[in-house]
Amino acid sequence: MYHPDLIRHPDGCPTLVLNADYTPLSYYPLSLWPWQTAIKAVFLERVDIVSHYEREVHSPSFSMKLPSVIALRQFVKPSAYPAFTRFNLFLRDSFACQYCGCRHDLTFDHVIPRAQGGRTTWENVATACAPCNLRKGGRTPRQARMELASTPERPTSWALQENGRRFPPNYLHDSWHDWLYWDVPLEA
Ligand SMILES: [Zn+2]
Repeated sequence: MYHPDLIRHPDGCPTLVLNADYTPLSYYPLSLWPWQTAIKAVFLERVDIVSHYEREVHSPSFSMKLPSVIALRQFVKPSAYPAFTRFNLFLRDSFACQYCGCRHDLTFDHVIPRAQGGRTTWENVATACAPCNLRKGGRTPRQARMELASTPERPTSWALQENGRRFPPNYLHDSWHDWLYWDVPLEA
């Protein structure tokens, strides 16, 4: 997977990649390929071109418009459960402190502190802002009299993707809109 920020810039003509059912392969990060990769996949007949940019590439033997949206010919079944990563944990918690709801200065809180035997798992780690984390210190929520917005659980990939849909990327090419369904309007 390519880092989305590097290829999202419109000048780079990134290609939105849809699964064989014409839903995005991934919402967050949005499944984008560099156009070079997309064209290779076209020639290998692994994808169909759904939409294209006006910009063309030329070689002595061919010219073609850069694909802006492609769809895989073979359906890729998403794994049922996402990896336990820092990013996915923030995404599960919608980038909000689970104690006060703020979205700044986010850190990870061991609900049952490590010193009390708490493990680093989906079920025991929650997103917390730095002030809440500091206030809670080495105590359980109960000991600190702080309440979690929700009980931490291992999310399904589906649930995580649903959350991701609420955090659209900054840039979307016109031809992508038909294939994306964001829950909130784009912010400037
Ligand atoms: Zn907080």
